[in-house]
Amino acid sequence: MTTYTLQILAGDGIGPEAMTEVKKLVAWINDKTDITINSRDGLVGGCSYDAYGEPLSDETLAECRDADAILLGAVGGPKWNNVEYTKRPEAGLLRLRKELDLFANLRPALVFDALIDASTLKPEIVRGLDILIVRELTGGVYFGEPRGIEDLGNGQRRGINTQVYTTAEIERVARVAFDLARKRGNKVTSCEKANVMESGKLWREDVSALHGKEFYDVELEHMYADNCAMQLLRNPSQFDVIVTDNLFGDILSDEAAMLTGSLGMLPSASLGDQNTTALYEPVHGSAPDIAGQGKANPLATILSFAMCLRYSFNQGTLADKIETCVQNVLNNGIRTPDIMADGCTEVSTSGMGDALIAELEK
Ligand code: NAD
Repeated sequence: MTTYTLQILAGDGIGPEAMTEVKKLVAWINDKTDITINSRDGLVGGCSYDAYGEPLSDETLAECRDADAILLGAVGGPKWNNVEYTKRPEAGLLRLRKELDLFANLRPALVFDALIDASTLKPEIVRGLDILIVRELTGGVYFGEPRGIEDLGNGQRRGINTQVYTTAEIERVARVAFDLARKRGNKVTSCEKANVMESGKLWREDVSALHGKEFYDVELEHMYADNCAMQLLRNPSQFDVIVTDNLFGDILSDEAAMLTGSLGMLPSASLGDQNTTALYEPVHGSAPDIAGQGKANPLATILSFAMCLRYSFNQGTLADKIETCVQNVLNNGIRTPDIMADGCTEVSTSGMGDALIAELEK
């Protein structure tokens, strides 16, 4: 019997609704497999602010550190729009990422055959698409110093941000990408702007050096980030794993995500080094417009939980099984309103969770 501790932070809006469906899955795993998952609930975001006056308490952070993995729903909503900047719901999430030093953000872009028409690209371009974007998450221009807005005293101001990376920061995220590529299509595309940025030149040199030392069995190609943005639309199937910095990763991962067409289907993982607890969360937000109506698609949260099983609990077979069942449910025409199509059966959030359990039972 293998036992894992899962810290659940359901958060705000549709977060708790989607998480209820994950809890059904956890109960099924505890009942039907030789794995035991002890899950416990904590507060993050607006609900934590309401309860404790801060979006992530020290106690919850300590519980997160102590767990084997964290699964987060979503944070935020109009109720907290006027809360001061450092206490806003999103600050809780940022604190979690920073305190746990989660430097590698994994964003899969997977096109399910049943949802192929949801993409804005032609079916023949996106069929079978399976890309993993690894974005550096704790460095680069979003954190570099100096930064700020200066008054130049002549009626002009100057805004400053600094793009900065060290070899250690580049190597650790590239290592994650190479390791993952070995378990997938064995190819890494590294993206920067080495043609116009020194930090990009260093990025390219350090990724190449690491590849030569430790990962020469993996295919490596370098690509300028702007070209990557175009190639993602022209011929996305050429990619397996893409590794890139914080800024380019922010943009390219959103672009790749939209190839799949549906926000309610997109999971993510944020990993640190092997001694830190990883964080899993859907890409979407708290969707206040549909919260509490049973309309939320829980699959992004469920697929985030599958990533947790694969990467933090080393239960790849179980993760594969859940992903296959998601595919089967979609093939059977079961749909939440966001992915509804002609001839399909519309179900609620809990209806989708129940359909998945029924599929697992088969
Ligand atoms: P959003 O992702 O919450 O919603 C965008 C649109 O997609 C909405 O129309 C929503 O109904 C729909 N949608 C999103 N997830 C869905 C799902 N699972 N099923 C069905 N439909 C879904 O983005 P937003 O509206 O820009 O932001 C709402 C709040 O969420 C804001 O407070 C924002 O700050 C916060 N937010 C949080 C996170 C996070 O927790 N990681 C990420 C993004 C936004």
